[in-house]
Amino acid sequence: MHADFIIRGAEIIDGNGTPRRKGDVAVSDDRIVATGDLGHWTAGREIEAKDRVVAPGFIDPHVHHDAALFTAPDMEFMTNQGVTTVINGNCGFSIAPIRRPENLLGQLRMISARPDLIFPTYAAYRDRIAAEPPAVNAACLIGQSTLRSNAMDDLSRAATDDELADMCALLDEALGQGAIGVSTGPFYPPARASTTAELIALGRVAHAHGKLYVTHMRDEGDRVIEALEETFSVGREACCGVHVSHHKCAGLANHGLSETTLAMIDAEMRQRDVGLDTTPWIASSTILNSGRHRQAERVIIAESEPHPELAGRDLADVARDWNTDLEGAIERLLPATGIFFIMAEEDVQRIMAYEHTMICSDGMPSGSHPHPRVWGTFPRVLGRYVRDVGLFSLEEGVRRMTSMPADRFGLGGRGRIAVGGFADLVIFDPRTIAEGATFENPIRPAHGIDRVFVNGREVFAFGKPTGNRPGRPLHQTAPVRVV
Ligand SMILES: [Zn+2]
Repeated sequence: MHADFIIRGAEIIDGNGTPRRKGDVAVSDDRIVATGDLGHWTAGREIEAKDRVVAPGFIDPHVHHDAALFTAPDMEFMTNQGVTTVINGNCGFSIAPIRRPENLLGQLRMISARPDLIFPTYAAYRDRIAAEPPAVNAACLIGQSTLRSNAMDDLSRAATDDELADMCALLDEALGQGAIGVSTGPFYPPARASTTAELIALGRVAHAHGKLYVTHMRDEGDRVIEALEETFSVGREACCGVHVSHHKCAGLANHGLSETTLAMIDAEMRQRDVGLDTTPWIASSTILNSGRHRQAERVIIAESEPHPELAGRDLADVARDWNTDLEGAIERLLPATGIFFIMAEEDVQRIMAYEHTMICSDGMPSGSHPHPRVWGTFPRVLGRYVRDVGLFSLEEGVRRMTSMPADRFGLGGRGRIAVGGFADLVIFDPRTIAEGATFENPIRPAHGIDRVFVNGREVFAFGKPTGNRPGRPLHQTAPVRVV
């Protein structure tokens, strides 16, 4: 009855959505070894957690920190908010497998501030994570645009049968090496010309491995309904589970449309395996030349390679200073990323409140002025939307950040406080938890997060990373629900 450390007297929220109960959590090595009243147990270290919640570490199912695992291995922007596992390779972009990097130049900004940090196989990426571990665990999807860049000379057209066969073979190899699914991004230029048949072919490969088809859909604005229908058709034709990334209804004309999109998702979910995630913000963030500025009420420059001094400025102000229009300013700022105010609060809340929605940050590495979601997403949900707005209970909020993504992506032993499970844990104060990051000051740690543990080792304590880096590459160890 001896553990490496025991967290004492906490309110335990176990990740299943069931009501909290008071108790202790004992950890030895990388596992939870006991929970409940552990008065008769001793430990090498006692951690007093009275008036605090202990919960499973949060799982962020949608980030673009593929290269940040190596360039910022403390992953403070994740651990400060209680995140202990990330899923990379989203929106069609992954840094493996890349064999012809010249075909993706410029586009790699989505995932890497260091475009040279690329890997010829998923196995090479996975092994590098194991050899040079970051503070958090990481699983990875394989991106459609990345696959296209290997198989095609010209990404502006549909793939030929031979090219598609090459893409499928590469995807098959990567999934066999432990990647957890495929991500498509027909919204983005390198995949915009892809046909629905191409998406279905990739979905079939995912299905053959019992893995998911995850998508940044072709459209999240005026044609979001058609894009949802296309996504559902991929699920039906390929028999694979489909997952809609960062669901939103973008653009003034589409505000309120989430009532319709959620009804469609709900109806499809009764027949097939459909899932979704979302971010708790009315602004999105992506490459500056995405066309999003045409739907936005306001655009902030997040990062510009030729003009780093303009990060944080309003695009409209910069265009005025330069005596040009928005298009002209964007042209001069590229390569660049931006923050786009394109959603309605009402839609953000309706999508988040939907019972099958999980939470993601969609964080991108964006220099000195990123979107505040990079640092503040999870505390914002538990502070603003749980405590202040009352969208759902704290237990339900934690479930959407833990067991729900773990089950969705087949990450066995993660996402719950259970004896025998991995000791990924966060201790927080439910009365003060909140994001510190704002649109004006986006790089600030969250409030109310005391301590964060990954695989039984403390990675973050009272506002600072500890320097421990116990993260691991994760692969699928439990079945995802696939029809
Ligand atoms: Zn995306």
